[in-house]
Amino acid sequence: MSSNVPTPARIRSHALQERAERFFPGGVNSPVRAFRAVGGAPPFVERGEGAWLIDADGNRYIDYFGSWGPMILGHAFAPVVEAIERAARNSASFGASTAAEADLAERIVACYPAIEKLRFVSSGTEATMSAIRLARAATGRKIVIKFEGCYHGHADGLLVKAGSGVATFGIPGSAGVPEEIARLTHALPYNDLAAVDAAFDAHEGKIAAVILEPVVGNAGCIPPAPEYLAGLREITEREGALLIVDEVMTGFRVALGGALELYGIDADLVTLGKIVGGGLPVGVFGGKRRFMDLLAPLGPVYQAGTLSGNPLAMAAGIATLGYLQEHAAEIYPRLEATARAVAEGVAQEAAKAQVPLTLNRVGSMWTWFFQSGTVTNYEEAARSDTAAFGRFHRALLEQGIWLPPSQFEAAFLGNAHGDSEIRATIDAARVAFAAVKVT
Ligand SMILES: *Cc1c(COP(=O)(O)O)cnc(C)c1O
Repeated sequence: MSSNVPTPARIRSHALQERAERFFPGGVNSPVRAFRAVGGAPPFVERGEGAWLIDADGNRYIDYFGSWGPMILGHAFAPVVEAIERAARNSASFGASTAAEADLAERIVACYPAIEKLRFVSSGTEATMSAIRLARAATGRKIVIKFEGCYHGHADGLLVKAGSGVATFGIPGSAGVPEEIARLTHALPYNDLAAVDAAFDAHEGKIAAVILEPVVGNAGCIPPAPEYLAGLREITEREGALLIVDEVMTGFRVALGGALELYGIDADLVTLGKIVGGGLPVGVFGGKRRFMDLLAPLGPVYQAGTLSGNPLAMAAGIATLGYLQEHAAEIYPRLEATARAVAEGVAQEAAKAQVPLTLNRVGSMWTWFFQSGTVTNYEEAARSDTAAFGRFHRALLEQGIWLPPSQFEAAFLGNAHGDSEIRATIDAARVAFAAVKVT
């Protein structure tokens, strides 16, 4: 929608978008950044400051997407910046082992008892892709069960009914994924244990793994029903399939030990990303030693990465997890309180304005679904009024509030968000709901 006439306030962003479109498909290097789902033109960011983003024209925005999850401590957080600077002085990369890798691993394992051994990669996509390869090797089986609306990165076999990006663009999977590969992924409705039981009955001895987001974030925020996660653990154990809990979004977000800690469950393999890299590109897959030891050079499963365990990324991760660990007792209750205040405050403004709104929230991730029904799975999320969400998004952006640009993405806040940001957001929402009602 870059053909829109730019508002005078975003002249430079508009010019930068036009330039970017010459180089990048859609002007972006990741599709949801293009704002197609909400309309309007995306501001170009120049810098971040705690809870705030400052664009190329000097406009300031309260950030509610936090680089899609990682920035839980806020932008340009001094201990993280200093750690990256210090590491950079010793060179950006070696392609040989450094002590920092085990330093970060120690912190991860301390938060995640389910992780006995792990390997670093450079993105969440790599983490889930590798976890699935491992599960297939461990079981000698081919089929993977995932859930509708869950996103696990953009590897071929995982782009089946994959939420957010693909939902935003109305593409059922993706062009370019061979049918033979897509057929090995079975997508079932979330929060429905009977569907999982039925799939194991229908494909006895053929299912390698069940992979899920323990709290869905990529179809908007959808919490697990009570006993759902425990039920999946029980079924997979009984059937000899691996349970892969994809905590790329929820890890260190919904609790220090992620959803595994919050809901008290175990997993065979866990994937991490986002927060674990403190804003630099890091992914992790890890879990039970007997599975992880199947990896080369110990075992027959090949997996590698030129920049895996990169020293700058390790430094940012250590600084971030170190701070979270040391201050967990204050940070997580504070995130809960701040997120509750803004999420419920805005929902109350919707009620006053008689705009139908369903709020789902787990800790500092949430979604305001523009509808009146409950949202427990992707099908229900998809009933939302995405045009109304688009109007809401644009009206907030004009007032300096930047939500994730899709109804099907969870909003986040971080430790830098405080009372003044919350109040400004609720005030802006009051104005925005008036705009939502005018069609
Ligand atoms: C973001 C995300 C991924 C993909 O991570 P990338 O670093 O973008 O490749 C995988 N799984 C979940 C749950 C995510 O939220």
